[in-house]
Amino acid sequence: MANPMRNLRDRTVLITGASSGIGRAIAERAAAEGARMALVARRKEQLDAVAERVRTLGGEAHVILCDVANRHAALACVEQAEEILGGVDVAVINAGVGRHRTLVEHDLDDAERLLRVNVLGALYFAHALAPRMLARGEGWMVFMASIAGLLPVPGEAVYSASKFALVGLAEALSIELEPSVHVLTVCPGAVRTDFVRDDELDRMPASAQSSAIEPEEVARATLDALAEGRTRVIVPGKLGVAVALRGVAPGLVRSGTARALAPILKRAKRPAE
Ligand code: NAP
Repeated sequence: MANPMRNLRDRTVLITGASSGIGRAIAERAAAEGARMALVARRKEQLDAVAERVRTLGGEAHVILCDVANRHAALACVEQAEEILGGVDVAVINAGVGRHRTLVEHDLDDAERLLRVNVLGALYFAHALAPRMLARGEGWMVFMASIAGLLPVPGEAVYSASKFALVGLAEALSIELEPSVHVLTVCPGAVRTDFVRDDELDRMPASAQSSAIEPEEVARATLDALAEGRTRVIVPGKLGVAVALRGVAPGLVRSGTARALAPILKRAKRPAE
């Protein structure tokens, strides 16, 4: 059920992963609309710089340092944000990490950590915020998933698994929590942020690298989708064609994906035979 959030003026917004990339771009856009924000991440210097920029743009900003993968820290962060802002209207659950690794290349501790940040981190915030929003009778939750949560991506299977989990959580919640709480799932393709480490750039297909978009485009699509009361946005929109095709011809999409990723998978390290 559509529940549009048309303007963020004087609305309270909590953004996880606000210290760089997409989270930072969303904070800046929300600032221009006059939002009051809690900016959450681990790197203090970067967060302080985003907060300063938010204030310059006309928003209100409070910095909360938090490792979202730590359950107690995440719950304390929500309490603190609620106290400072007097309630959270909009939660942008965006913090995340990625790894371009095949499963056999993935160190198990690192894989577990990735799932903890991307999935459990999101769960902690959603679990703490949902009852409060329901009690107030309104709220908006935005989950920053990925196209890798709608189309399986070989070469980053663990990351893809984390984003499939996030899409499942978000899209089930969007029905569980309606009509008072509106849930939006955002699925970007490749975005030019610090997310992909320099040593991993050649692990992305050339087509993904050349069609990568700026974080500001994701921020615009996210706030536009909220204003339109949408429950899912894929950005850029053209990636939606592959998602729709997978629904009707999964074998075709599977073989196309295998062909596109073959050179990268061939270069991936194999365990000694
Ligand atoms: P980014 O610039 O690296 O930003 C990631 C943000 O997450 C940073 O603010 C980082 O802050 C925060 N973060 C990471 N681990 C955290 C933790 N344990 N606790 C708290 N904060 C943590 O990358 P981005 O591209 O903007 O990524 C944002 C989201 O978009 C992620 O969920 C990612 O999966 C998704 N996404 C990205 C792309 C892409 O191609 N870039 C595509 C699709 C989806 P600190 O390091 O300061 O903690």
